[in-house]
Amino acid sequence: RVALTAAVGALLVVAGCTHRQPPVSATYRYPTSNPSWQPMSLEEAMRLIDDRPGWEGEYPPIVIPRHPAEKYLKDVTIVLDPGHGASDGKTDPTYKRGPTREREDDMNLRVGLLLHRLLKDAGANVILTRDRDMLLDLPARSEIANTAPRPDGGTGADLFISIHHNAVNNPHANYTSVWYHGEVDDAEAAIDAALPIAHRLGQAMRTDVAKTSPILSDQLMYGTGFGVLRGCNMPAILLECSFYTHPQEEQRLRDAGYNLREAYAVYVGLCEWAYGGRPTQAMPEANLQARPGFLVLQTVLQNGLPDWWGKDRNRILQSTIQVTVDGRRVDHTFDPVTRQLRVDVPIEANQPGAVTADRFELTIKFANMFKHHNHPQRFEVSLDRQNMTASLRPLRVKQAVPPATQPK
Ligand SMILES: [Zn+2]
Repeated sequence: RVALTAAVGALLVVAGCTHRQPPVSATYRYPTSNPSWQPMSLEEAMRLIDDRPGWEGEYPPIVIPRHPAEKYLKDVTIVLDPGHGASDGKTDPTYKRGPTREREDDMNLRVGLLLHRLLKDAGANVILTRDRDMLLDLPARSEIANTAPRPDGGTGADLFISIHHNAVNNPHANYTSVWYHGEVDDAEAAIDAALPIAHRLGQAMRTDVAKTSPILSDQLMYGTGFGVLRGCNMPAILLECSFYTHPQEEQRLRDAGYNLREAYAVYVGLCEWAYGGRPTQAMPEANLQARPGFLVLQTVLQNGLPDWWGKDRNRILQSTIQVTVDGRRVDHTFDPVTRQLRVDVPIEANQPGAVTADRFELTIKFANMFKHHNHPQRFEVSLDRQNMTASLRPLRVKQAVPPATQPK
């Protein structure tokens, strides 16, 4: 190790004295496609570090290989919503336009169409809320997601993505933000998708990623959040890819090649999201007859991961399993071999912690080893104490309640 360190040190000294070679070509091809390929020396690699560009302003060539994990997007129902359209019918000539009048709705549509193509090629069941310049109100956009036909014959998208670009009264601001609806605890599955997309977008567009949190709650803007996210029954996110009020960024955003960088970044983020699995559970069974005085709830937790090597091992983080009844935590048992979850809820008034209502909200939460969260998490349980029967139905993603005081 000492010898190696000395050798590296000598190389650095040599590198400092020799004539500097031009930087290695950005499109770097390995031997399979280049017969005259020579391995790069450590000195050359060090020189690349010497010559590395700043974060902003320089972009690598547009290279958009198919991601191997795109296969996990097959048959996933994703609704893409290019924000605005026909400039929302406004007559104000500056409405949602950059310094040289580039329109936000146009750039949103270009990114949406390119992303639609990438996801379609991946085998996803992808639906656009609009594929042209047209007016579309917010409830109509959410409704397209809520009624989206699924390959399994069901209804409703797995994920809703609204595509926007941001504006602010400061020409220097240019960061990427991805927005979820309401409280973090009610948006776990949405945030699972938001994070890789936010990171990939910021990296591809070289926006000021450390400026603020890459993911933000829509309640920071409005007490009830964004209408388009609020209306969605499923995990939903809204992308503010960058700021068209930043003069250089506005010019880049006019370029469909730049829009392809954006679309590809979202596509890779979605591949990574799908790769980490989408946990869920079997429809819980509610039984009033299994144990006198108790409602017995049972389900099998599914980690949502592919049939990889090691699939027989438990890949659900047991510390994340949480069950609540009307917001109150209740004990559970989990068998890591069968993945069976069981909850015994006392229902007779004389029992400690008994549930006396005939209708209550049940939540089941857990995460897999990638810390991806289950969906759905909320159910309504109805008890018929007379006939000793119970029924259960899944509930939509919780809608945000405006806080008593608006956070700043
Ligand atoms: Zn917008």
